[in-house]
Parts: sequence; C-alpha cells; structure tokens
Amino acid sequence: MNNDVKKIAVLTSGGDAPGMNAAIRATTRAALHSGMEVFGVMKGFQGLIDDDLIPLKSQNVSGIIQRGGTFLQSARSSDFKSVEGRKIAYQNLKKRDISALVVIGGDGSFTGATTFAVEFPDISIIGIPATIDNDIYGTDYTIGYDTALNTVIEAVDNIRDTASSFNRIFLVEVMGREAGFIAVNSGIASGAEVIMVPERKNQIDKLRKFLDRRAQKNKSSIVIVAEGLEEGSAMEIANIISPDYPNFDIKVSVLGYIQRGGRPTAKDRVIASLMGIAAIEAINDGQKSLMVGWRNEEIVHVPLSKTFKLEKSISDDMLNAVEIIGTFLPKN
Ligand code: ATP
Repeated sequence: MNNDVKKIAVLTSGGDAPGMNAAIRATTRAALHSGMEVFGVMKGFQGLIDDDLIPLKSQNVSGIIQRGGTFLQSARSSDFKSVEGRKIAYQNLKKRDISALVVIGGDGSFTGATTFAVEFPDISIIGIPATIDNDIYGTDYTIGYDTALNTVIEAVDNIRDTASSFNRIFLVEVMGREAGFIAVNSGIASGAEVIMVPERKNQIDKLRKFLDRRAQKNKSSIVIVAEGLEEGSAMEIANIISPDYPNFDIKVSVLGYIQRGGRPTAKDRVIASLMGIAAIEAINDGQKSLMVGWRNEEIVHVPLSKTFKLEKSISDDMLNAVEIIGTFLPKN
C-alpha cells in the first residue's frame, strides 16, 4: 500500500463513450473507500489547464451510471499538446497536492498522458481505456464499444426491415478509422451481406462481385462500410458503383454520432466499474504509468506507453468470418 497518495483527480478525454460515467463513479468511490480525496476535472486535459476542478463526494456520482456520455464532459485540448500547457496543468495539480491522475479516454489521451508522466514523474498516471472504436492495444475491450456495437446492430436491423421490401442496396457507414472492430462485429451480428473493412484490400472489387451475383437474384442487401476505408466514404463508394448498377436503388446511411450515444449496456457498466476500482488499486500499489485493461475476463496492467505505440488488430478468425458468412463469394 502506497500511503503517499492522499488526493487524486479523474478526467474523461477525447471522444465521449457510453460507460465513462460508470468509470468515474467507480474510480471516485474506490478512492474515497481508500481514504483519498477526489477531484473531477471538467473537459479533459483542457480543464486541468483552465483549473476547472470540482471536489467529488460519493453523492456527486450517484444517479449517473445509467447515463450515456460523461458528466465531467470531454474535450480535445490543443493546449495540452504544448509543454507550456502541460506545465500549467501540473501546477494546478500540485497546488492542491494531487499526486495521481486517472485518465479515462482513448489512445490520443494516453499519448498525452504518457508525455505528461515522463515530464512530471511525481504524478502517478493511470489510464482507463474508453472509446467506442475498441482500438487500444493491450485490452480486449474498451468502455463504450459494447453499447456502440448494439446501437449499430439495432439501426441495421431497422434498415433491413425496409431494405427487404424493395430492390435496394443499403451502404451503412459505421465508425472505425484504422480498425474495423465495429464494422466486423456489427456486420456479423446483423447478418450483413457484405462487410467492407480497412484491414482488407480491393473492397470495391468485392462489392462489385457481390452485386454482379445479386443482380441476377433481384434481392435487397445490407453492406456495412467502415469509415476508414482507403477507397473512400460510403457516399463516395456509392457514387463510384451506382452508374454500373442501374437496376439497383443504392442508398447510403451514415450512422455517425448516434453510435456515441445511448444508455450504456450492462457489460459497459460492469467492466467500467471494475476498471475504476483497479485504477485505484494500481495507485495504492505505487504504480506510476499504466493502463488497466481487460483480457481473458480479468483485469490486466499494461504500460501506458505500449497502448498507443503498438497496434491492436482484429483476429484472423473474425476477418475470415467476414469473407465466409456474408456473401458466399467463391474465394477467387
Ligand atoms: P477517441 O479514440 O475516442 O478519439 P482519443 O483519446 O484518442 O479518443 P484524441 O482527440 O486523439 O482522442 O486525444 C484526446 C486529447 O489527448 C487531445 O485533445 C489532446 O489534449 C491529448 N493528446 C493527444 N495527443 C497528444 C500528444 N501527442 N501530446 C499531448 N497531448 C495529446
């Protein structure tokens, strides 16, 4: 037990994700349980620079676990990318004798947090992975991903109801810049006919092959398009292929920000709660710069610097499933 840490701060940073509130709540209550004082930082790293901190007691985090978003609010702070900005952030922590910071966010947030930890090693920094993209190395799972995935599946199910009544092709664009976790999993779970992911090449060729076969069958279909395709957005892809398939009514649906919202699922709430508790345990153990992750159904510790330097990839089994169960295209 490291009794040095008497005061901690917690913040949410980057894109907001459902379940962040559960992580704040658990972090706060676990810290209070350990006899620490807790401060919530408003608007991520920007709030540290603007000295926008509020004391958190147990009652301040009651009634929030079921709410999407983050009650501390999140932000993208360009000031924190400068040495001067980070120095002000440090001074604002020091003047309150805060010696540990819990950062709930994605890989960008962990990049900033690691730089801060190197510059100011007397502050203990613990990361909790929270992003709907699920693209952080060292953890099977990030807070918000499960809710986002279920939101996408529900939306696609609704689209399919209308798609099945006409001769339509729906290109449904989902989030996922470099990694297509949401695309692959929502595509499999919603029974999409084609799943286009950034991990694979020649995705438009694949779509054309599928449409050529489909044209003969006169059916409607769902195509999941990850937003990070090098071939372009769903709209751009629709514009490329439409002239060649006049018999199909090609529609585009960009799910966008609805994927960030909504009540967090049970899984997001429970794992966020376990991660919040684990973050405080790590501080009590004297850990300085790590992320608490979730692997094989248990909490793991990962050096913070690894979480954004290494890449998390989708398993071959998953990518294989994308090829096999959607389109039934022959291998070549
Ligand atoms: P998401 O994956 O949901 O987008 P994220 O945490 O990756 O979340 P970013 O906007 O990339 O979101 O990063 C959040 C914040 O972290 C930035 O606004 C900035 O304040 C800080 N940050 C990111 N990169 C750096 C960096 N290289 N140096 C200092 N701070 C950084």
